[in-house]
This record gives sequence, structure tokens and C-alpha cells, in this order.
Amino acid sequence: MEQQHRDVIIIGGGLAGLSAAIYLGRSRRDTLLIHSDRSMAKWEDDVQNYLGFPDGISGDAILERGRRQVERFGVQIKEDEIRFVTKVDEIFHLRGKTQSYRALRLLVATGLTHLPPEIAGVRECLGLSLFFCKDCDAFRVQGKRIVILGHNNEAADYALAMLLFSASVVIATNDHTLTWDSDHGAWLEEYRIAIRRERIAEVEHADGHLRALTFGAGVRLEADAAFATRGDVTHTELLTGLGAELDSEGQVVVDACLRTTVPGLYAAGCVTPANCQMIIAAGQGATAAQSINRDLFDESLRRHALPCFGQVREGT
Ligand SMILES: Cc1cc2nc3c(=O)[nH]c(=O)nc-3n(C[C@H](O)[C@H](O)[C@H](O)COP(=O)(O)OP(=O)(O)OC[C@H]3O[C@@H](n4cnc5c(N)ncnc54)[C@H](O)[C@@H]3O)c2cc1C
Repeated sequence: MEQQHRDVIIIGGGLAGLSAAIYLGRSRRDTLLIHSDRSMAKWEDDVQNYLGFPDGISGDAILERGRRQVERFGVQIKEDEIRFVTKVDEIFHLRGKTQSYRALRLLVATGLTHLPPEIAGVRECLGLSLFFCKDCDAFRVQGKRIVILGHNNEAADYALAMLLFSASVVIATNDHTLTWDSDHGAWLEEYRIAIRRERIAEVEHADGHLRALTFGAGVRLEADAAFATRGDVTHTELLTGLGAELDSEGQVVVDACLRTTVPGLYAAGCVTPANCQMIIAAGQGATAAQSINRDLFDESLRRHALPCFGQVREGT
């Protein structure tokens, strides 16, 4: 299998990976970006909250513009899927579907995937009337009848937050056991949020536009929009050979410079515990790239470890 050896490899071509690639390219680091073309940004046709696009822009268009910008600074972009990574003698060895790679520094920006609840009709409504992210989509459903699909603290938080946008907010648990804590339970009571605990038979919609939830025996709850609290799968399976620390949600633990617990390995974007927003992922990508650049300088100049931009670490 052919091998490529680089100073830096970025795994992930979403907002975090592309932003890091721009910074590393402009720092003249020999960088390769590998991605499997499954950025979550592709799910959003109308991004409203990303700085600089007052009339909105599609996630696909942001990615396409990002790739063009990256290529201007000499970073190679390659489509592949990384299956496994090991570290031997300070070098990262990556096994991809089509090829193997080696790098001195590795940035993981593989994101996560939101898994919609397995209810008939849900998938057709995704992005049109069924959403995952209140920070992205609550603004567009103001005054509508909103259902929160969920049964945990996050569902309760979503319902309470939605009261800023609509007086009609209901939680539908789909027959799951309630797991919110007593504080959340008390807040839901205080704000008189209705809770429907029946199993949901179907999400009724017209071309993806929600009309109602249908419970058993033909009982319906009319609604215009739904938010699903996330069943997230974080894409860290490729890191199992490195032993990087993950938190209780399975996200990669990082410090303020986006360094992981494995020397030379960095992580940025939704694969870390940061709020999963495009602008935050892009910002983290930039920070991680600056940390990598500084750490490489540090190594070549044999100086003390330098802090990342804006950070002062103990002992420096
Ligand atoms: C329906 C929907 C709507 C959204 N709307 C908004 C919005 O309006 N505004 C907003 O700010 N955010 C929105 N988001 C969230 C936004 O998409 C994410 O915040 C953003 O994409 C995160 O960027 P990232 O780089 O961390 O991950 P991603 O953009 O998901 O990129 C991950 C990258 O890693 C690659 N990858 C993963 N595993 C491997 C592997 N093993 N080998 C190689 N490559 C791999 C993928 O192919 C992809 O290129 C939305 C999300 C969804 C699902």
C-alpha cells in the first residue's frame, strides 16, 4: 500500500478541518487533509447564523468555498476514510480505506452524527420541520406549535428554552422512562410544560412539513415543528489504538490549545465537547492549527513549550 509522509495530517473536511487547513497552509506547513465527505454541514440548506452571510448560505456552499480557499494555500485535499491510527516512535501511522499515511502531528476533526429517533416520518421532516439544534433553528419556528422529542435533562432544557420562541411547547417522550432530574422536573411544572408520554406511532407530514404526531388508537397532537434531543455518535472509533481520553459522552478531551492527552494529537470541532456550531468548529480549527504550528516551532527550535495564542501555561 502506497504511503504518504507529512508534517501534519488533518482528518476531517468539515468546518474545523478546513479552517485548520487554511491556517496551516498559510503557515507553510506540509499538510494533507483527508475526509470522507460526510460533513454534517451538508444537512443544512439554509445556514442563518454563520458570520458574513446575511441572506443565509447552504452548508454545501460553505464547504465548497472552504475547499477552494484551502487549495489556494497549497494544502492537498484527499478523499479517503481513515480506519485506524497508531503511534510508533513519535510518528502517527494512519490506515485508510485506500492508502496509508504517516505524520508528525495529527488533528482529528471528524465531528459527530446526530441520529434521529426511529419513528416513521421523522427522516422526511429532517431540516424542514424537524431539527436537532435550538441555537440554529429555534429562531425560524417562532410562534409555531413546537414538540420536543425526548425524555432527559436536555429535552427539559430544550422545552424551557423554546418558551422564548413560542407559548405552545409540548414534550413527547415516546414511551421512554423520564430521566430528567428533580430540578428539571420542578422547572417543567413551574412553567406548565405539557408532557405526552404515549408511544408515537407516526410523524404525520406533508412533504416534510410536520402536521401532527399520531399516538396509538388515532389520537393526534397537532404541531408545526419538532426538535429531537440528540442521539449522537461521535467519530472517535479510529482513535482506539491511541488511548486518547474521552469524556462521558464519548467526546475527545482537549485543553484550551486543543491538545489531547496524547502528545502530538489535537482535536477540534464537534468531536470535542464544544457546542456543536459551525462558527465554533471553525474557530477551534484555527486554534488547533496555531497550537500545532507553535509546537512544531518549539520542537525545531528546541525551546520550552510555547503557549497557544492567548494562553499562558504554568511554567512558561
Ligand atoms: C440538520 C443540521 C443542521 C445544522 N444547521 C446548523 C446551522 O444552521 N448553523 C450551525 O452553526 N451549525 C449547524 N449544524 C451543525 C454543524 O453542521 C456542525 O457544527 C459542523 O458541521 C461541525 O463541523 P466539524 O468540522 O466539527 O464536523 P463536520 O462538519 O461534521 O465534519 C466532519 C468531517 O470528518 C470527516 N470524517 C469523519 N470520520 C472520518 C474518517 N474516519 N476518515 C476520514 N474522514 C472522516 C467527515 O467526512 C467530515 O468531512 C447543523 C447540523 C445538522 C445535522
